[in-house]
Formats: sequence, structure tokens, C-alpha cells
Amino acid sequence: MTPLLVSACLLGLNTRYNAETKTNAQVVALIEQADIMPIIVCPEQLAGFSTPRPSCEFIQGSGEQVWRGTGQLKNSLGDDVTAAFCRGAQETLTIARMTHCRIALLKERSPSCGSRFIHCQGELCPGQGVTTVLLHQEGLRLFSEEQLDELQEYLGN
Ligand code: SF4
Repeated sequence: MTPLLVSACLLGLNTRYNAETKTNAQVVALIEQADIMPIIVCPEQLAGFSTPRPSCEFIQGSGEQVWRGTGQLKNSLGDDVTAAFCRGAQETLTIARMTHCRIALLKERSPSCGSRFIHCQGELCPGQGVTTVLLHQEGLRLFSEEQLDELQEYLGN
């Protein structure tokens, strides 16, 4: 079986900041049908955040800039949560290494898991989340829930 790192909220786990589930039926079907071992992670819960929690977004840059030391995230209360996001990303990377995951399916537009887009100061911007950048640097092949056809093709299904 192929280990696939998956954002927990895509499979319906109650991990999102607003405690609303966001089950993606196509992702669930893929996991059930394909020869996949899902490795289910939520970087923000691994960072120690609770559910529900204040929403967070980049106020400067994206995940790439965070790891270069020039990006920053704050929650809706104004707290700087940049270091916590980095901790969650590092824990997620540890799990990916432990489980020999070389592919990840991540929730698009999340400040942790976004693979092509994130929100910065209320705007949708191109960029990766804090966790996604680490996984990319590790050489994982990344897909979002908006790229399931590409993922299926990559898996050879
Ligand atoms: Fe989903 Fe990732 Fe946000 Fe966790 S951090 S709720 S897995 S998008």
C-alpha cells in the first residue's frame, strides 16, 4: 500500500478552526478505492491549537517567507502564531518521515496546508502554507483536493 499524507479535515475529522467539518466525498472515495494507506495529520492541532480556535492568516508573505524569516501569521485576536505554525509543520514532517510518505494530499488555501494559494491580509494569494513548504523541501509530491485527477493519474489508478 502507498502511504499518503492527508489533511485530516478532508476526511471529515473535526480539526478546522471553526469546528465545521469539511468532508470531501471524492477524497474519501479515493482513499477507500485506491491501494492507499492514509496518514492523517492536522498540522495546526500538532502545533497545539484547539478546535475551535481563532482564525489565522498571513499578515506578511506566505509559507516560503516564513521559513526565510520574513513572513508572519497572526490570529484574529492579533497574536503572532508564526512559531506555532512552524512547530506544527515540523511535527508533520516528522510523521511523514516516520511513515515513509512521499506523496501528500493537502487542503488548499489553508495557512498550513495550502499548496498553491493562501490568504494574506484577507486576499487570496499564490503561495504555499507553512507545512506545505517543508514537505515540498523534503521532496514530497504535493496535491490538493482540487487536483484529484492528477493524483489518481500519479498513483496509476
Ligand atoms: Fe485541515 Fe490542515 Fe487546517 Fe488542519 S491545518 S484543519 S488539516 S487545513
